[in-house]
Amino acid sequence: MSLPRQMDLSNKLSRQLSGIPRSGIRDFFELVIGRSDVISLGVGEPDKPTPWPIREAAIRSLEKGQTSYTSNLGLESLRVAISEYVAGQFRVTYDPKTEILVTVGVSEALDLAFRAVLDPGDEVIYHQPCYVSYGPSITMAYGVPVPVNTRLEDNFALRAEDVEKAITPKTKVIALNFPTNPTGAIEPPEELEKIAQLCVKHDLLCFTDEIYSELLYDGGQHKSIVEFPGMRERTVLLHGFSKAFAMTGWRLGYACAPAVLREAMMKIHQYCMLCAPIMSQVAALEALHQGTTVIEPMRQSYEERRNFVVRRLNEMGLSCFNPGGAFYVFPDVSSTGLSGRDFALKLLEEKSVAVVPGNAFGPTGEKCVRCCYATAPDLLVKAMDGMEEFVKSRKVA
Ligand code: PLP
Repeated sequence: MSLPRQMDLSNKLSRQLSGIPRSGIRDFFELVIGRSDVISLGVGEPDKPTPWPIREAAIRSLEKGQTSYTSNLGLESLRVAISEYVAGQFRVTYDPKTEILVTVGVSEALDLAFRAVLDPGDEVIYHQPCYVSYGPSITMAYGVPVPVNTRLEDNFALRAEDVEKAITPKTKVIALNFPTNPTGAIEPPEELEKIAQLCVKHDLLCFTDEIYSELLYDGGQHKSIVEFPGMRERTVLLHGFSKAFAMTGWRLGYACAPAVLREAMMKIHQYCMLCAPIMSQVAALEALHQGTTVIEPMRQSYEERRNFVVRRLNEMGLSCFNPGGAFYVFPDVSSTGLSGRDFALKLLEEKSVAVVPGNAFGPTGEKCVRCCYATAPDLLVKAMDGMEEFVKSRKVA
């Protein structure tokens, strides 16, 4: 019996896909799969499961048989709770009926936002190094990604003057994410204010990804660009439950936006997603009821771990600034004579510690690696010990 001839399907794929690189994180983690000996500082997610009261609320709702679709917009009770939470966190109010959409993670919200506003050729400015999905999501929405480099010497804050230089008649959106994945950078309010003024002056939209906004350290208070004059009416605020509430697997996020933008995003969401899963929405409602009661202990423990990791990295001779938020550090490893990529590969090979090469987040991360410190403290100690031995061995060589 002859096997069916393999069809070449590659020429059937969308041309748009050819502009999209494979994720540098994914490439690297294929090397780690199946290796139980590896300590991973690679994946950007909390080490602890979702706090129990949140899990319990979902279990109870499943016991009651709540397994249906919800409104496309998300449960009304959840949208009301989101509106109250956002008013407290960002000092901006949104109407739960017309200005809030519950989504499948911030990932879906970002995708919807780009697809809702971009026409072919429209440019989106965003800061780099940045979260790996921004460039590809813009490309998939037929937009043109315009990364603006941030610098190690500025602790990866974004300079408004660099943003201004990148603005062209085709610019439609400025996308921001502070605190930032992968650097942990926070944006000085003076710079944020200047970027807000640029948005208003050039009549640009702004998408602000606030997924790490609860995870601030050293007593820092979060300030979002949406709070500046003239910004609420041109901003899509994207937020979710994955990081601060340790709910990555529930896949729940939301977008808050002026009604016209929310409606445009909803148009896409209703056909491609219908609604976010009801059990996750019930869990998210409980998460918002719990609020700081569950967030604060996790935040404090990340702060302790950040202090430990930054101290150890600097002591071993890797220059690492003290990031003000999120749960990442982004040390410069060039003193070892290695690029971030070679450092990550050799560290994995020799010490079984996994970190992500900085260039996975854009070329300005080339000298750096990203380490996620939302990892159990005993494993963090082992990872830092392994890294120190590795760095010392490079210096002798
Ligand atoms: N935005 C940033 C900056 C992230 O770091 C991540 C995940 O790492 C996401 C969005 C995706 O979030 P979600 O799990 O809500 O889809």
